[in-house]
Amino acid sequence: MNHTIAIIGNPNSGKTTLFNRLTGSNQHVGNWPGVTVDRKTGHIVYHNHTIDVVDLPGIYSLSPFTQEEMIAREYVLSDEPDGILNIVDATNIERNLYLTMQLIALGLPMVIALNFIDDCRAQGIEIDCGALSDTLGVRVIPISARKGENMDELIQTVAENLKKPLRQPAYLHGVGAAVSRVARALEETGLRQESLPFYALKLLEGDSHVQEHVALPPSVRQTLETTAAALSSHGSEDNEMILADALYDFIEEAVRRAVKRPAQPVLTRTERLDRFIINKWLALPIFACLMVLMFWATFGPVGSFFADILETLITGMLVPAVQAGLRSAGASAWVTGLVCDGVLGGVGSVVSFLPQIIILFFFLSLLEDTGYLARIAFIMDTLLRRIGLSGKSFVPMLMGFGCTTPAVMAARTMENEKDRRMTIMLTPFMSCGAKLPVYALFAGALFPQCASFVIISLYVLGILVGIFAGWLLKKTIFRGVSSGFVLELPPYRLPTVRGTLQNMWEKAKDFLTKAGTIIFVMSIVIWLLQNFTPTLQTAADSSDSILGMFGQFIAPVFAPLGFGEWRASVSILTGIIAKEAVVSTMSVLYGVDLSALGGLLTSVFTPVAAYAFLVFILLYMPCMSAFATIRREMGGWKWAAGAAAFQTVLAWVVSFLVYQCGSFLFHII
Ligand code: GDP
Ligand code: MG
Repeated sequence: MNHTIAIIGNPNSGKTTLFNRLTGSNQHVGNWPGVTVDRKTGHIVYHNHTIDVVDLPGIYSLSPFTQEEMIAREYVLSDEPDGILNIVDATNIERNLYLTMQLIALGLPMVIALNFIDDCRAQGIEIDCGALSDTLGVRVIPISARKGENMDELIQTVAENLKKPLRQPAYLHGVGAAVSRVARALEETGLRQESLPFYALKLLEGDSHVQEHVALPPSVRQTLETTAAALSSHGSEDNEMILADALYDFIEEAVRRAVKRPAQPVLTRTERLDRFIINKWLALPIFACLMVLMFWATFGPVGSFFADILETLITGMLVPAVQAGLRSAGASAWVTGLVCDGVLGGVGSVVSFLPQIIILFFFLSLLEDTGYLARIAFIMDTLLRRIGLSGKSFVPMLMGFGCTTPAVMAARTMENEKDRRMTIMLTPFMSCGAKLPVYALFAGALFPQCASFVIISLYVLGILVGIFAGWLLKKTIFRGVSSGFVLELPPYRLPTVRGTLQNMWEKAKDFLTKAGTIIFVMSIVIWLLQNFTPTLQTAADSSDSILGMFGQFIAPVFAPLGFGEWRASVSILTGIIAKEAVVSTMSVLYGVDLSALGGLLTSVFTPVAAYAFLVFILLYMPCMSAFATIRREMGGWKWAAGAAAFQTVLAWVVSFLVYQCGSFLFHII
């Protein structure tokens, strides 16, 4: 029979790193809280039997405030896990052990992985794991998940302890008697017997979730009430505080016995760096410089150099070779057209941007792994608080620069339901990676002198519109106070080569997969629709084709924005399926390869119209997959459709303003 263990620990304590180590998986690791918001399963094979390992979102205690915390707690309370692997950040041991104490009360077989032992060594912290084990009654194994230290010993200990229920240690001075009295009274309920101390603890705390889910017989309720009343009569505080104090007293004692810290705590590297990086005056200039550097590297000479090479390979070598091959095989003109102009033109135009995608994600991965991304959220919070927004929204929103879908899920980290919904609606304004080929194409063609600045301006505009929309929503449908900001700043860490490469590879794989599936199929469909008339004759001119007629029908909507050209309108629609499709659709519709497409666009779009087009692409509703996620996370079509309409209307208005004001200014000059 398979056994299942759950990895539980505080946010950013290295759970996913450990999970990847143990199971050989490649889950996303990031140096900030809130990266894992769902559960993930993998396996360890140990002496011919398999242990399933479940990675969960991080939690500070078993009293959940947010959806992701709920996911973790519900899972440990279910019957599924046979044991718990509690991961503890050794550099932050007191706070981490608070969760540990609650887990111990659950009574499930458990092992503690004392992580970050490498950092402890560097900081001169010594921990006596034997002593800690004795006090807690749980085996403690020192590890470094990042370096893979002590993994074998950890696995062996987990396997050996899988069937050993915990004995409850003699903790909780003063309140232990109350907890055991309630636990004993609970024996007659159907609750898991070994977890009764946990339920007793939570019921005494007055935890509303447990109260709702556990049906108590009257006699048990009586015992609970008298015990709770007796407890609170001891002091002026409420029971939750009294119990928390008791847990912390116990923890302090345990730490005093087991941990030796250097006499004079040195200022850590993180503290020294933060004096500089999140300094009141320097924070924003540093942020701006980093952004310029990142976009310049992605879209400036380096990115273009590699993109050009790839494009030359595709249009200069691959397409002619395929063309020649098809011709010698006697393929008809339309098959050649479909393969070369449809498939290779569409897919090729998107794939050419792979180098830039990889470079951008290299930088995003560095920002995330060093711990800088969390600081951006922190810096933004100071600014946003002034207009009544919670900086906590910025954590999911920053993830939106990668891809909207996981970012929308990351809004689960928000405690306040209104804030969560609002964050979900704002996240799509953060420019996702898939829009990058569109920007690169247009900026390269129409603004060759200042391509990176045009693109930076779009990213900044996305943030500004996001803030404006947030302010607007806060004043209207999401009225109310935001919760305070409690993002914990992670320490600065050097990114690992493995982690960085893995993030880049994941992104490249996603991008190529999309090109090979959605973009591939869509290019064929678009090619067919623009080559046949509604009566299924070959269209002499593509404006007579099915797509041409449809495009001309919707084009007037975009005419006031400066791009009422039917091909541009059609590509906006296909962009709803996947943003990269804007580029592939244009390439197929204009019937030219990527290098010629750039030149052609300069004759179709004025610079102002091109910028207005990019603004529309930046702001309008996200792609289908993000839309589906928004529907799921918001719990209904109405919400999702409302959000999409809100985004699209706002995109239209901003793009309209950009085009009209821009044209006016140009006129004067
Ligand atoms: P999670 O939020 O608990 O899943 O934590 P992650 O696995 O995402 O890791 C958070 C950060 O801690 C990442 O930057 C990891 O590289 C880093 N990390 C994890 N384990 C260790 C460790 O043992 N030593 C050091 N120095 N860093 C670690
Ligand atoms: Mg994680």
